[in-house]
Amino acid sequence: MSVITQPTDLLRMQDPQMADVLAGERQRQADTLQMSAAENFTSTAVLAALGSALANKYAEGYPGARHHGGCEYADLAERTAMERATALFGAEHANVQPHSGSSAVLAAYAALLRPGDTVLAMGLPYGGHLTHGSPANLSGRWFDFVGYGVDTGTGLIDYRQVQRLAHAHRPQAIVCGSISYPRHPEYSAFREIADEVGAYLIVDAAHPIGLVAGGAAPSPVPYADVVCATTHKVLRGPRGGMLLCGAELAERIDRAVFPFTQGGAQMHTIAAKAVAFGEAARPAFGTYAHRVVANARALAGALQEHGFTLTTGGTDTHLITADPAPLGVDGPTARGRLAAAGIVLDTCALPYGDQRGIRLGTAAVTTQGMGEEEMVRIAALFAAAVGGDGVKTRTEVGELTTGFPPYGE
Ligand SMILES: *Cc1c(COP(=O)(O)O)cnc(C)c1O
Repeated sequence: MSVITQPTDLLRMQDPQMADVLAGERQRQADTLQMSAAENFTSTAVLAALGSALANKYAEGYPGARHHGGCEYADLAERTAMERATALFGAEHANVQPHSGSSAVLAAYAALLRPGDTVLAMGLPYGGHLTHGSPANLSGRWFDFVGYGVDTGTGLIDYRQVQRLAHAHRPQAIVCGSISYPRHPEYSAFREIADEVGAYLIVDAAHPIGLVAGGAAPSPVPYADVVCATTHKVLRGPRGGMLLCGAELAERIDRAVFPFTQGGAQMHTIAAKAVAFGEAARPAFGTYAHRVVANARALAGALQEHGFTLTTGGTDTHLITADPAPLGVDGPTARGRLAAAGIVLDTCALPYGDQRGIRLGTAAVTTQGMGEEEMVRIAALFAAAVGGDGVKTRTEVGELTTGFPPYGE
């Protein structure tokens, strides 16, 4: 007798076509290596919250002040998420409604800036995010962005250049954050420069916020006026964003999210964020965050031995940016060969020249339980795949991933 208990079984009965798509994606995630620096595997508990009845609840506004009825559980979910976030990060206020990291950044701008204001941020060719002034993004169209870079030799942020540009352009805000910088920014230096010119300091900690939660990276919270973050990268929560700030900016930030830039909050995602914050507060998450960094260091060292050039010469975080040029290929070619071998990652800008490199991270493979031994093995697979030995490498990737199922057995 078969009893249907799993939602996936119900989906298969009703819509086998879409059930196949979802099963295919699950299989793809399980039998290839997810080395994109921005991805991770959430717990089953987080996925359960995402698939819960709160997905059907409208809750415009904030706890205790909603535009809809029946929000008692939605309020509990959001209050819990806010309390856990403020406790986890030592912040006075948390807004957990941003639908994504980009929504969080745009809401921070909306709270602090007016159209036409000058903003100093890392230039896109050096690792700035689209929301840091790309002409293809609202930020670049509505604000006057000035870009700082990194030193072409060391790959490190040149704080004297940041200071010089700040004094020359007198920005209303300085943005600290990047999609590919593998080192800890010096938040205190950014704070000092911002104070010298009377600018707000916005830290876009989309990448390192999970390491911050686990005590494996310095916290920007004591230095920034506003911290923007994602919840789905190293932090291992649902896809979404978050804002942290002091009590004096709380109301402006809240109004900038709703009603200024967003509509109804996604309550199932907010519940899932609360679950993830709960997980991140446990000692096991601290262990995880430190292992992510140890794995990134081991992988970085091994990649270097195989001939890759690493920007900044290594990493302090989960993130590695590498130039495969010494192996005779550029970033896009390397990404293609790695993908064919079952190793999934992104290309990225390099701090020198126009060639692109590859960007990778260890958050997902560490969640799967891989350690430094596997990192050395993965580096060898990188070299073999980039060298053109795709078929054999694909088989070995399959063997490796079999031992580390991302969603358990
Ligand atoms: C990932 C990221 C974002 C955007 O997050 P989304 O959820 O994709 O919108 C913003 N800023 C930085 C620095 C990021 O790394």
